[in-house]
Amino acid sequence: MFSYRHAFHAGNHADVLKHTVLVAALQYLTEKDAALTVIDTHAGAGLYRLDGDYASTSGEADQGVRRLLEGPLLPNQAAPSPLAPALQAYLEVLRNFNPGKSGFTVYPGSPFITQHLLRGHDRLKAFELHPTDSRALSGNIAQLEAGRQVAVLLEDGFEGVKKFLPPPQRRALLLCDPSYEIKSDYGRVLDLITDCLKRFATGTYAVWYPIIPRPEAHDLPKRLKTLTNKAGKPWLHATLTVKSGSAGGGLPASGMFLINPPYTLKAALKEALPQMVALMGQDKGAGFTLDSAG
Ligand code: SAM
Repeated sequence: MFSYRHAFHAGNHADVLKHTVLVAALQYLTEKDAALTVIDTHAGAGLYRLDGDYASTSGEADQGVRRLLEGPLLPNQAAPSPLAPALQAYLEVLRNFNPGKSGFTVYPGSPFITQHLLRGHDRLKAFELHPTDSRALSGNIAQLEAGRQVAVLLEDGFEGVKKFLPPPQRRALLLCDPSYEIKSDYGRVLDLITDCLKRFATGTYAVWYPIIPRPEAHDLPKRLKTLTNKAGKPWLHATLTVKSGSAGGGLPASGMFLINPPYTLKAALKEALPQMVALMGQDKGAGFTLDSAG
């Protein structure tokens, strides 16, 4: 069950999509004074070395986040300039973890990006079930001395969220980012979101998923759309494809599905997604989609 380690993939194109969306959503949701609760159902280790063994072996950040600094992967592709505000905001968060450096050697995962953008009265509940990653996350978080602001839970994130919804101030962002190592994760995501909407219909829910030739992966965004439409809630769906197929290995594409998204997000992604394609696209199959309703 636990062969997935995010350290191999940190800073890849899927992280660029997911974390650009996360930064944009958090910036919007922290504009209001009332406290925000962020629930990270699958938090990972929190901090990753891009020059460490895991990331160097896979080289995924070289084809991902580093393109934002070093320009397009394809030689005949023009570099977008200036970078879209959403990408600039994402880079600014990353720079904070790499002070004084021109490039990136440290990559912050979702709990660190989140904690960086939270105010003192906001709360982060970070679930991580892999004992090694959970230990690493607890150790990394302890160094922040964030006290009660951040709770790391060595629990099943699909189950554990229930106790935090609805949140005290009735404002929450939930990021659901499983590794989808096991087929049942797709169904568990749907069950989780169905249950969350019953517990707290006005929360913002963000689900990342891989676009791979597997029926469950294909069906997940469709089923999320159906259940969100049934609940009468607005949604936004963004996908990023960096190559035509899985030739050469590696994930070709991924998507983010948001329920009750910030109303500013669509315009922000409309600018950022074509630039992600220009920078990280690996062949003519690269592209994006952006849909919304409500
Ligand atoms: N959200 C992280 C980020 O953006 O930096 C990356 C998370 S990674 C894709 C998925 C993580 O979920 C892995 O670290 C894995 O060990 C953990 N995991 C797998 N099953 C889980 C479960 N049922 N509950 C909580 N964590 C789980």
